[in-house]
Amino acid sequence: MGRLDNQVALVTGAARGIGAAVARLLADGGSRVAVADVLDDAGASVASAIGERARYLHLDVTEEESWNAALKNVEDSFGPVSVLVNNAGVVEWGSIEEQSLASFRRVIDINLQGPWLGMHTLAPSLRRAGGGVVVNVSSTAGLMGYSEIGGYVASKWGLRGLTKAAALELAADGVRVCSVHPGPIRTPMTAGMDESFAAGQPIPRFGEPEEVARMVLFIVADATYSTGVEFVLDGGSTVGSTALTAQEE
Ligand code: NAD
Repeated sequence: MGRLDNQVALVTGAARGIGAAVARLLADGGSRVAVADVLDDAGASVASAIGERARYLHLDVTEEESWNAALKNVEDSFGPVSVLVNNAGVVEWGSIEEQSLASFRRVIDINLQGPWLGMHTLAPSLRRAGGGVVVNVSSTAGLMGYSEIGGYVASKWGLRGLTKAAALELAADGVRVCSVHPGPIRTPMTAGMDESFAAGQPIPRFGEPEEVARMVLFIVADATYSTGVEFVLDGGSTVGSTALTAQEE
C-alpha cells in the first residue's frame, strides 16, 4: 500500500527537471500521474519509465482548449484529479527596458495564466474527487526581486497571490492550495548558470529536483493543516545577507 494509492495527479511541465522528479515521486507513493508537457518525446519517456501508473498528456498550459482536453483525457483514464501541480514555467532574460512585450507576455502566459487556467479548469474535478491539493511552483522570485528577469518576478509574485485567493475559494471543497518557492535548482532551466550563483547562500550549492519533489510530496501527503501558504527551499538564500561586517575605526 502506498500513501497516495487513491490519488490522481496531474503535473504540468513534467517532461524534465522539477516536474519529472515530482511525477516520479508521486507515482512512487502510489498515485496515478498524468505527465503533462509540450515536449512530447521527453514527456512520453518520463511516463513510460514510471510505468503503468503514468500517462503522458500533451498540454500547453496557455491554451484553455488544451486544458479541457487534458481534463477529459485524465478523467477517462484515471478518474477525477485530486492533485494538481502547476509546475510548467519559463524564464526570459532582459531588463524592463530591453525585454519585448511579446517576451513579457509569454512569461506571464505560461507562469501565471497557466496555473490560473489549471485551477479554473480542474476545480470541478477536484470537487468530484472529494477534495485534494493544488501545489503552485513559484520561486524565490516570488519572495524578493531579481534584476533582468522582471517578467519572471512578476509572474511568480502573481502566482503566490493567486495561491492565497484559490486557497480561500476552494477550502469549502476540501481543497488545499499552497505555493513552493525553490531557490536555484539544477535543471535544464539553469543549465547556463554557474555554480557560483549559489556560493553566497548559507547552503552554498544548487538544489536538486528531487529535493523540490520531496517538498511537494510533503505538502500533498503530510501538510494537512496548511493552505494558502509558502513553502520555501532555497539553501537559505532569502534569509538575509552576511555581507555586513564591523567597520574598523
Ligand atoms: P525546465 O525548463 O527544466 O522545465 C520546465 C518544463 O515546463 C519543460 O518541460 C517545458 O517544456 C515545460 N513548459 C514550458 N512551457 C510550457 C507550456 N506552455 N505548457 C506546458 N509545459 C510547458 O525548468 P525547471 O527548472 O524544472 O522549472 C520548473 C518550475 O520550477 C518552473 O515553474 C520554474 O519557474 C520553477 N523554478 C525553477 C527553479 C530553478 O532554479 N530551476 C527555481 C525556482 C523555481
